[in-house]
Amino acid sequence: MRKVFIAGNWKMNMTHLETMKFLEEFGFKFGNKNKCDIAVCPPFTALRSAMTVINDDNLEIKLGAQNMYFETKGAFTGEISPDMLKALNVEYVILGHSERRQYFNETDKLINKKVKAVFENKLKPILCIGETIDIRESGREKEFVIGQLTDCLDSVDREDIVNITIAYEPIWAIGTGKTATSEDANNMCSAIRAKIAELYSSDVANAVRIQYGGSVKPSNISELMNMPDIDGALVGGASLKADDFLAIINY
Ligand code: PEP
Repeated sequence: MRKVFIAGNWKMNMTHLETMKFLEEFGFKFGNKNKCDIAVCPPFTALRSAMTVINDDNLEIKLGAQNMYFETKGAFTGEISPDMLKALNVEYVILGHSERRQYFNETDKLINKKVKAVFENKLKPILCIGETIDIRESGREKEFVIGQLTDCLDSVDREDIVNITIAYEPIWAIGTGKTATSEDANNMCSAIRAKIAELYSSDVANAVRIQYGGSVKPSNISELMNMPDIDGALVGGASLKADDFLAIINY
């Protein structure tokens, strides 16, 4: 039985002060009675403040980072190491988000190194994969997404893989207001699970959580969550408003 996992990707939004205000309001309304795993992924500069509020208010919310470098330390100006994240109680790391692929030229090869570094450091990746509109319209979306999955998981150990979350995020649905139909989203999540079964085993595939991401909001979350292979959501825009994020969690 897979536990539902809802994560908020705040992207380049929220100062540390706004983060504290958000979490205080959210924590007050949320009441720690959730039945699913919840994570927020603020910018690096707000992680310390988020950790303080989560600890002080005893919130059942996990912290995630939006990226991480694969080296442990050294001359990598502007990068953030696994130890830096662990020191802030970070548990999850989003990797391979389409915005990192598009604006920062991240490739499957680099993302694969990061996935392995995340596991070596006992953190948990949220690996994002998804196709562009052109690829979907050409009918090659499964081949493309499964290719990304296979390359990003290259030589990742069987013991580690159960701790991965895959976020299927069709790029044409991110921040656009367009959501994949729940059937299309579930079809892709089923194909991802089938590939994990082929690469590892069906036990592993049944344990791995697969999120859908792309314009998830209070009005479409229930339908998506009714699908058998969708185990949660990676939420961008709607995770920036405490009430919307709460409504999604309480779907
Ligand atoms: C995301 O950035 O991962 C995302 C899914 O964004 P949005 O919910 O805003 O489409």
